[in-house]
Amino acid sequence: MQEVDISRLPDELRAQLAEDYQSGCWKWLGKRTKTGYGYIGLGLKHFGIAEIHAHRLIYRLLMGAIEHNHALHHWCHNKRCCNPAHLLPMTNGEHSRWHGERIRRIKETYGRD
Ligand SMILES: [Zn+2]
Ligand SMILES: [Zn+2]
Repeated sequence: MQEVDISRLPDELRAQLAEDYQSGCWKWLGKRTKTGYGYIGLGLKHFGIAEIHAHRLIYRLLMGAIEHNHALHHWCHNKRCCNPAHLLPMTNGEHSRWHGERIRRIKETYGRD
């Protein structure tokens, strides 16, 4: 696994993260969206940008730009995680197909959502 240096982040962001040494996850301690992702409020509702996902911001700071129309998939399945080494960029289409597949398999296996 690729190692990413958390110390390259600004202190304000590091203060919001708890490193889990077992999983390697960087757990976001700040606010979360209804769907469970960490976010940072920007207070720019007027401009249509009210908030930014914490994992996307941290990925951009440490790994560089995210291609247009790309989602960052959490392969650690921890939505609060912001460790770029746990995030896999894929197109939005691929991403929803991937999750759709997974949900379909779970339904088939367990007969429920
Ligand atoms: Zn993780
Ligand atoms: Zn995903």
